[in-house]
Amino acid sequence: MKDCQILIIGAGIGGLTAALSLQHYGFKVAIHEQAPELGEVGAGLTITPNATHAFDFLGLGDRLAESYCIPTAGAVKNYKTGETLLKTYRGNTPFEKYGAHYFQIHRADLHTVLIEAVLANDPDCIHVDHAFVDLSQDDSGVTARFANGDTASGEVLIGCDGGNSAVRSNVFAPEPVVFTGQVAWRALVPADRLTEELMTPPSCAYIGPDRLFTRYFIRKGETVNVVALARQPGWEEEGWTIHAEIPEFLDLYHDFHSDVKEIIKVLPPELLYKWALRDREPLANWVCDRVTVLGDAAHPMTPFLGQGAVMAIEDGMVVGRCFHEAPNITEAMALYEGSRKERANGVQIQSRAQAASYQGSALENYNPGRNAEGRGLFEYNPVTVPLTV
Ligand SMILES: Cc1cc2nc3c(=O)[nH]c(=O)nc-3n(C[C@H](O)[C@H](O)[C@H](O)COP(=O)(O)OP(=O)(O)OC[C@H]3O[C@@H](n4cnc5c(N)ncnc54)[C@H](O)[C@@H]3O)c2cc1C
Repeated sequence: MKDCQILIIGAGIGGLTAALSLQHYGFKVAIHEQAPELGEVGAGLTITPNATHAFDFLGLGDRLAESYCIPTAGAVKNYKTGETLLKTYRGNTPFEKYGAHYFQIHRADLHTVLIEAVLANDPDCIHVDHAFVDLSQDDSGVTARFANGDTASGEVLIGCDGGNSAVRSNVFAPEPVVFTGQVAWRALVPADRLTEELMTPPSCAYIGPDRLFTRYFIRKGETVNVVALARQPGWEEEGWTIHAEIPEFLDLYHDFHSDVKEIIKVLPPELLYKWALRDREPLANWVCDRVTVLGDAAHPMTPFLGQGAVMAIEDGMVVGRCFHEAPNITEAMALYEGSRKERANGVQIQSRAQAASYQGSALENYNPGRNAEGRGLFEYNPVTVPLTV
């Protein structure tokens, strides 16, 4: 088993975590990424203890601490009045409770740390400018074909190519990727543009009819990450780099508390983006012989529980353990699907439901006990959870 070559499609958070976990257990991986270079994309991510366990185990804890922020507290507030509906104590509390930190980080900083770690294990394992097109497989292995004309062969292929996964479309029955009716607005704001009062507590969500607005510190408090999620049928483009306009954003949140509007008014216009969110139905089977999927490719996740990247990290940690513990490829694949499908597909469905809780017309559906922590999601540890077929 240890000499089997594992092809990974996609160098996102899930693909890189899977690569690192597999390398940790002695496997050779080859990662193929469509982007021409490994650049800085995305904005802030909240990483909860259930994923941090994996990074601690893989030796990334200190390196991540150089750029992440641990919020001392968080709050959910009424969109109009600013009344606090829920206060959460963060700081060291999650570590004391779960044994791992809750932190907030720029996706690019996390991505950089993962790339450094993967390349330190094998400097030649990442191949950029390799957009996966299709694959063929038989009893002896799997071969992937790329848009640049190259091919790559191995014993196993893991599709970590995000919510529009071409690997998934290649091996499983055709199914639509549908627009959710939700648009994510994302911005990065230099922290010195915001007063301490506007940023208290340091992590906060305002919830209201059809819209949610969140903001929190990243990059050691130098930058504030803004994510707003709005039901907005009619505009359906998708991507990390689609620019948006401040007047449109302000208009959309015109009836929100003045704190929210103050933040929107000082956003650097060139750092405001929007993204129409897509979804796929939960996948019934994750394995097709020598091919499986991981992260958003397996379970594209709406961001209402802030668990999309977290689930990809859990998957990545667990897939390495499965290959380490199973005697052959078939059993490793079965162990991976058996260990991950119920949890990740379940969180995918719970995330959808959370939209109704945060965006109810009169906050009538809001249940403070049903956030990611209240649903018990932080209690999972991908390093120690029993593996099962
Ligand atoms: C607004 C918003 C806020 C979010 N906030 C959070 C949060 O706070 N916490 C959290 O945990 N999650 C959050 N998420 C979710 C999170 O960003 C995703 O779930 C996570 O990035 C999924 O990781 P992944 O590796 O599966 O996919 P991706 O990060 O999408 O990576 C896929 C990789 O595959 C590559 N690729 C795609 N197609 C091909 C191809 N054909 N060939 C080769 N390579 C290919 C891509 O270029 C990319 O590098 C948020 C998402 C959104 C939209």
